[in-house]
Amino acid sequence: MSDAASPDITPAAAGAPATATAGGATQETTTVVEFTQVGKTYDTGYTAIKDVTFRVDDVPGHMEIVGILGPSGCGKSTVLRLIAGLTPQHPATTGIVKVMGKPVEAPGADRGFVFQDYTSFDHRTVEQNIAFGLECRGTPANERLELARDWIQKVGLDVKRDADKYPHELSGGMRQRVALARTLVLKPRVILMDEPFGALDPKTRYAMQDQLVALSREVQATVFLVTHSIEEAVYVGDRLFVFSNAPGTILQEMSIPAPDRPARVMQREPDFLDIVFSVRDLVEGLEMSDRAGT
Ligand code: ADP
Repeated sequence: MSDAASPDITPAAAGAPATATAGGATQETTTVVEFTQVGKTYDTGYTAIKDVTFRVDDVPGHMEIVGILGPSGCGKSTVLRLIAGLTPQHPATTGIVKVMGKPVEAPGADRGFVFQDYTSFDHRTVEQNIAFGLECRGTPANERLELARDWIQKVGLDVKRDADKYPHELSGGMRQRVALARTLVLKPRVILMDEPFGALDPKTRYAMQDQLVALSREVQATVFLVTHSIEEAVYVGDRLFVFSNAPGTILQEMSIPAPDRPARVMQREPDFLDIVFSVRDLVEGLEMSDRAGT
């Protein structure tokens, strides 16, 4: 985070085009995910989201983490699952959802999903769980074993101690590390995370936030993170989308300074807390005016 004496929150226009400067030259950027007036009405007749419009660009050397905040039931998971191409959220009822410039038609290897409830196979070891997607891809056994072991270490587990353990032998934090490794080993371009750290104790949660920031930078992935924690969104996020009550739409988009110190340290600092309080005031204000219909 910058040495902000006052909260550095910049409202950003949804859908604003971006350019990046590399070696003094301005480059055109690719759009990673783009929503154009997207709405979803389920078969029940319930409209979960309406008119959701945004774009997130691929800025070379600086992939964004987008934090998605909003009240329960406002359609945050619906947005993630539309990006993933998962039914019954996909297809959208109205509007267009594009990933890497193409309309989403189905799930794809370019998008990886990390859920809150640790989605490992109970009958597979840590190593076999992490290697699962590679196996589906037809990666040769020795190569996938090497990659799985590499990722066991990258997410902070220990090959000797943990590779042969089954999910029931792991703590919640360790299981979520396996889930992260299972997704990242496939090098997705977009990582979709739905309250991934919601069930973890505060210390483990800080560690996972740090890991997420470091590893998403390493694999150069754009991350969409749904969270109920404003602290978490402000810490990991480069950008925040604040959603309205259902039917959810983006009430405010903001740029947030990127983290540059450990979560445990930074989240106690007055400058950081100033930003959190500003975002909290903004979210509460938006929710109140949204409820009042103004
Ligand atoms: P959030 O993630 O913000 O809590 P969701 O995207 O999960 O919200 O859901 C938004 C609304 O859509 C909720 O009221 C939910 O009950 C409803 N909803 C979600 N999935 C379905 C479905 N398959 N069929 C009908 N309604 C659904």
